[in-house]
Amino acid sequence: MVKKIEHIGIAVKNLKQANEVYQQLLGDPPYKIESVESEGVNTSFFQTGASKIELLEASHPNSAIAKFIEKKGEGIHHIAFAVEDIKAEMERLKKEGFKIINEHPIKGADNQWVCFVHPKDTKGVLIELCQKIT
Ligand code: ZN
Repeated sequence: MVKKIEHIGIAVKNLKQANEVYQQLLGDPPYKIESVESEGVNTSFFQTGASKIELLEASHPNSAIAKFIEKKGEGIHHIAFAVEDIKAEMERLKKEGFKIINEHPIKGADNQWVCFVHPKDTKGVLIELCQKIT
């Protein structure tokens, strides 16, 4: 079961410059800036009420974010849902016929276990599931 929209991920070309834009937009600086080497991304997080905005910049040219920007330009990259039990939710979605991109949950940014659901099964939107690491 999904608890809420945890965050919306936005692909950006230049994290430093995008942080300035989003700080102006939201009125507060990012509460966290973090690199996730395994995913090839540099990220920043802004709190927006119960949800967050995640900005993602490619940290190397083969990163999924670099490919996304090459194809589509900057913009919304994924929507993340918070779940209680990511493994149970992955099993449930697999049974429903969704393609889960990761075989197992991976350690994502902001202290979360994450996995991704393929956009071909979700009307063109990459979906991330995340469960807080406790
Ligand atoms: Zn995310």
